Amino acid sequence: MGNKTDHKNQILVVDDEQMNLKAIKRLLRKDGYKIKYAQSGAEALEIAEDFIPDLVILDIMMPGIDGYETCKRLKAGKKTSNAMVLLLSGKKSVDDRLKGYEVDADDFISKPYDPDELKAKIRILLRLKNTRQELLLEIAEKKAAEALLIQTNKDLETAVARAEKLAREADQANQVKSRFLAGMSHELNTPLNGVLGLTQVLLESGIDGKQKEYVLSLEKSGSALLFALDGILDYSKLEAGELLLETETFNPGQVVEAVGDAFKAELDAKQIGLSIDIKPESNLEKLTGDKNRFTQVLRNLVSNAVKFTEAGSVSILLEAKKIDNRSTRIRVSVSDTGIGIPDTLQSRIFEPFSRVDDSLSRKTGGVGIGLSVSRKIALLMGGDIIVESETEKGSRFVFACLMENMAAVDSKDEKAVETTQKAHDEKGNVQPVRILVVEDNPINQKVAEIMLSKAGHDITMACNGLEAVDIYFKQPESFDMIFMDVQMPEMDGLEATRTIREKGGADIPIVALTAHAMKGDREKCLESGMNDYMTKPFKKEILLEMVRKWGGDVPMPS
Ligand code: ADP
Repeated sequence: MGNKTDHKNQILVVDDEQMNLKAIKRLLRKDGYKIKYAQSGAEALEIAEDFIPDLVILDIMMPGIDGYETCKRLKAGKKTSNAMVLLLSGKKSVDDRLKGYEVDADDFISKPYDPDELKAKIRILLRLKNTRQELLLEIAEKKAAEALLIQTNKDLETAVARAEKLAREADQANQVKSRFLAGMSHELNTPLNGVLGLTQVLLESGIDGKQKEYVLSLEKSGSALLFALDGILDYSKLEAGELLLETETFNPGQVVEAVGDAFKAELDAKQIGLSIDIKPESNLEKLTGDKNRFTQVLRNLVSNAVKFTEAGSVSILLEAKKIDNRSTRIRVSVSDTGIGIPDTLQSRIFEPFSRVDDSLSRKTGGVGIGLSVSRKIALLMGGDIIVESETEKGSRFVFACLMENMAAVDSKDEKAVETTQKAHDEKGNVQPVRILVVEDNPINQKVAEIMLSKAGHDITMACNGLEAVDIYFKQPESFDMIFMDVQMPEMDGLEATRTIREKGGADIPIVALTAHAMKGDREKCLESGMNDYMTKPFKKEILLEMVRKWGGDVPMPS
């Protein structure tokens, strides 16, 4: 046990005989106790209230309050109950002792006492008192610790309950966010389809001079808005784990060439060179992966390289290494001689909404999520993106991913190829495709109508699913394919498709044309019986590609 009781022990000696008090005083003089004296029970009780003795040596026979009564009151006192009591009895009587035990005295000594015996009893009683004190302290400490533990447990339970509540709330908020994003994507994509579609139509209508300049600016702003919107949607999909990769056969080398070509004009305007090096051409045939996402990541890296380089060159190097029978690792390095990125900021650029130089980025555009989205896509593809860069010297971004070897060609694509070939063989070269377009938004009706009819196709328009079912079954043989919006009044595109399939329109190709871009939308369309899916805003080229794929051939250049 520790030294908690190392203080000087306090003794109160009570005797009505002055002489006896003096004798004890002499006896204990050299023992280092703190001692007080009282000549009556009443005086003893009064002194004890302040002095708080460890031991009371108490004469039994006193006038007034005798030793027994004094002992009883001491043991009952709040402050004095822990004091040890040694009764000094005048004679060796058993009765005295029994009486003493009744009032809780701790020990006895009979007068005349042997001084050594008295000293020994004092020592033993004080040791007992000290030990008891320590035990009491320990118990009190344990109780306090126990109380603390109980409180901590309670706090923990409260914290767990709170965390669970917050998690539930976050989950609900996440669901609200997803619904909000799905709604927002629909609400923004629908008018944007109108803006971009009509801009394209205007540009092809033969305008020139200032008008053409304005419309080109309009197209640039619309495309920037679409790009930002796509980025934010991708980011939310990735955050919610809702971005699913598609699989198709493609040659990554061709994608690299195409992306390089797409930036050629911009690079020429800045007088920056472009070099493309595709190393193992023989390995790149018949690989499967998500072509659109692969293109997206590459476009982002090349776009940044072009954006942040004012002189010198941009180079793209593609390397491929077959890992085993199933997969091939693709590495694309995009290097530039641009402004570079300081060491300290290199890891931060992959965080969403981070830009090295805000003032520069305001000039160059971009919301700062391209790299964060690209890296997440690369990770989903079994790879990663890393950066090496030096300020004022340039940067190199390496995008690695896995592609599968020799996967079977998608059966739908085969069917599409067949359809196209049949159109060639049986119908000859130039046959307009007869298309039923189902769309409720008047501006988007106009966009689709102009794009498709300018390409030489026959268009019939339906304003909702109900009307589409009606029009189609009046003359099913007069349609080659259907473009079907999804969200429409009266009857939506999913129900209209199911109805057409159930009522006997099993073979007519139906392609979803929808502003919905969230997880599961594509699956919902395919499950309802549609053959393919494209999202708004659509580019004319992609729309016509769908006609080529599902409706037969595209006959005339627009
Ligand atoms: P954004 O380009 O839309 O701002 P990104 O996520 O694509 O967003 O890029 C984040 C930031 O990383 C950029 O704003 C820029 O500061 C820095 N960065 C990216 N690529 C390069 C590069 N090739 N050279 C210099 N800085 C770059």
